Amino acid sequence: MNRDVGSVWDALQARSVSRRDFLKFCTSVGAALALPADKTPQIVQALEQKQRPPVIWLHGQECTGDDESFIRANNPSVTSVVMDVISLEYSEVLMADAGAQAEQHLTDAMKRYAGKYLVVQEGSVPTGPNAHYCTIGGRSAETILREVAKDCAAIICVGACAAWGGWPASRPNPTGAMGVSKIIKDKPVVNLTGCPHNGFNAVATIVHYLTFGALPATDALGRPLFCHGVRIHDNCERRHHFDAGQFVEAWGDEGHRQGWCLYKMGCKGPEAYYNCPVLRWNDGTSWPVKAGHGCIACASFDFWDQMTPFYGRLPNVPNIPVESTIDRLGVVLTGLTLAGVAAHGIGTVIWKHEKEKRKPEHPPEAMAGAEGEAPAGPGPEAAPSVTPGQAGTPSASEPATPPEDSSKSEKEA
Ligand code: SF4
Repeated sequence: MNRDVGSVWDALQARSVSRRDFLKFCTSVGAALALPADKTPQIVQALEQKQRPPVIWLHGQECTGDDESFIRANNPSVTSVVMDVISLEYSEVLMADAGAQAEQHLTDAMKRYAGKYLVVQEGSVPTGPNAHYCTIGGRSAETILREVAKDCAAIICVGACAAWGGWPASRPNPTGAMGVSKIIKDKPVVNLTGCPHNGFNAVATIVHYLTFGALPATDALGRPLFCHGVRIHDNCERRHHFDAGQFVEAWGDEGHRQGWCLYKMGCKGPEAYYNCPVLRWNDGTSWPVKAGHGCIACASFDFWDQMTPFYGRLPNVPNIPVESTIDRLGVVLTGLTLAGVAAHGIGTVIWKHEKEKRKPEHPPEAMAGAEGEAPAGPGPEAAPSVTPGQAGTPSASEPATPPEDSSKSEKEA
């Protein structure tokens, strides 16, 4: 018989969280999910009335940074709310039990919540003859994942390692490390990537599941659109320097001190899709680019191999005078001024032409997950991509191709 774990609101009340803070939390999660305001009452109702989802949290090959990120998520300043969103049934890192007692707890939770529990996977999974590189209680991480996944409702991968292998899977990948979606094919899997993932995105994903009974809509790489639908470059506070051709040329130079664009120092923001500049870290205080370091595209597929060298400049970034010096840019601007109204007319024609050209290449439905132009947010019709109980059943919003295939086209693109 299932035990009553209560609702999120029950758990918060037990911690003396005020109604006002609870409602603020619901509103901020709705905003993070890019839902319209009229969906907030649904979120409130779900968190008031539904049982917190049981979660089994597994670990593989990783640095435990995603645990750290999750337990420190505190937007909006209700620090206790994060763990209260779930009923954590098993976690090798956070649970008090150890040894046989812990293993028994895992077995009991799987039986008690069969078909209903969520699996949160952190870390990559060594496979095949090298599976023994990661063992817990004498069994390989691959064996445990396959067993636990069998009766779960869905799997949430937190961090780049769980999503597609991360650094353990980078060349030459001595342990045969893989992300979950290459191993588990018959369950809904969502990839909250990043190195580490941002804990608030995990909270929002779980709240979405609790409210709508489904994981959020995803791109072709299995990443939720609400947090991976917009390009970092387009939300970056240094973007106006990029557009103006003002670049840091060396660490500590005048441009660096003035907060100019880090593109020439290797910033991968023009090719990375993540809500990092919006959510930020440490209570929303900062993020790497604000702190003066370029984005390393840690939420992009296979970034350890694909986005290195981290300090190497991205080639062929479109739409900007990235190869221009400030002097050259000045000449261009002078020419445009002299051209006056004629330039405006020409520009309009070019703009229309470019718009037309881009239409067939980036139709909204094909943009899901492509590392190109950002698709619009999920919006009010944020159709859940995966519904519990429909494991393995493709839905209209599911990617047309499996993540591993899509990632190849991402690289080629
Ligand atoms: Fe920001 Fe990097 Fe884009 Fe420059 S290249 S505007 S630092 S994201």
